[in-house]
Amino acid sequence: MRQNLAVVLRQLHGTGAASRADLARATGLTKATVSALVGELSDLGLVREVDGAVGGRTGRPATLVSVSGERAAAIGLEVNVGYLAIATVDLEGRVAHERLVEIDRDRATPGMVVTRLASLAARAVRALAVEGRRVIGTGLAVPGLVSQPEGRVLVAPNFGWSDLPLTEMLRDRFRRRSIEAGPVATDNEATMAALAHVATMRAREVDSFLAVSGGVGVGAGVVIDGEAFRGSHGFGGELGHFVVDPGGRRCRCGNRGCLETIAGESNLLRAAGVRRGAGGTGLDRIEQRARRGDPRTVDGLEHVGEALSLGLAAAANLFDPQAIVLGGSFAPLAPWLAPVIERRLADQVLGHRWAPIPVVTSSLGRAAAVHGAAQRALTSLLADPSIVARRSRGGDDA
Ligand SMILES: [Zn+2]
Repeated sequence: MRQNLAVVLRQLHGTGAASRADLARATGLTKATVSALVGELSDLGLVREVDGAVGGRTGRPATLVSVSGERAAAIGLEVNVGYLAIATVDLEGRVAHERLVEIDRDRATPGMVVTRLASLAARAVRALAVEGRRVIGTGLAVPGLVSQPEGRVLVAPNFGWSDLPLTEMLRDRFRRRSIEAGPVATDNEATMAALAHVATMRAREVDSFLAVSGGVGVGAGVVIDGEAFRGSHGFGGELGHFVVDPGGRRCRCGNRGCLETIAGESNLLRAAGVRRGAGGTGLDRIEQRARRGDPRTVDGLEHVGEALSLGLAAAANLFDPQAIVLGGSFAPLAPWLAPVIERRLADQVLGHRWAPIPVVTSSLGRAAAVHGAAQRALTSLLADPSIVARRSRGGDDA
């Protein structure tokens, strides 16, 4: 029964409002079973009835069922270079309680980061409680390699962290401060950012894609059939360390000529001939100069686009994605980067003639990883809807 509850909830979450008859057809369950399951999901506050006409149907109005975010939501947290972020996301995809606080990277000790994350989470839990909503779980996005399922940060080069039990530390802090933020799942920020794009890409009928994310480093998330592909240890997606210029600049990882040494933020600025000024990342200045047609900036972006294409073409030949999403610092520069990448993919990806790969610009900006972290926590609800009842009784699956 519990498994069938999940089947019905996932179906509704994936396809939007549906009638009980549609649900029976889609899941292969009988109409009577579907009605009972919908009743149970409704009691849990996870689905509600909506008017068929509002659901976009024509002809005879039918009572449709849709997912509901009225009772439960998930928290997304992010640790990144220079900031901590929080957002909550519910089953209807509504984002709330977003906050971003700046931190000094050089003084960001693990203890300080955990304390501030816990305070952000505590405030969100209180705000959700006022709305009558429970937190079913928390996702934490970190810029580094994260072991699965333990959530140890094996290495986060930008913070100088290695072999750090960050997930355990956060759970412990939640316990000691009685913060009911549910189980904590930690993952690499690029993987989380990719998860944030699953819903918008599904609306374009895309289920398998690569989401490349620019920042201080360069990361990628691989989504196959709507699920994140992490590799066997959770270490997949390290596009930034594809060597695209053997003998090039030394990378933080110790190798030479990694993609990051060309497309990471400081190198992007250098290539575009822009100095990092006080306040802001300098990306806005790259954009302004490129708009004016400044030759050095346009050439620099072309060079970065070429380097990105080498990594993306290799990944595309390997994974055969339906699309590539450009996010993070690459998103505002997509008008210059995307045409170069699309041209190169057309040359270098064998299957391109039969299945061209569009390069799509992310609209989420810096929020992608924190939204994706909350989505990751929601997946545990989609896998077992009854956790919301257990959480309401004060149970904790952590
Ligand atoms: Zn490297």
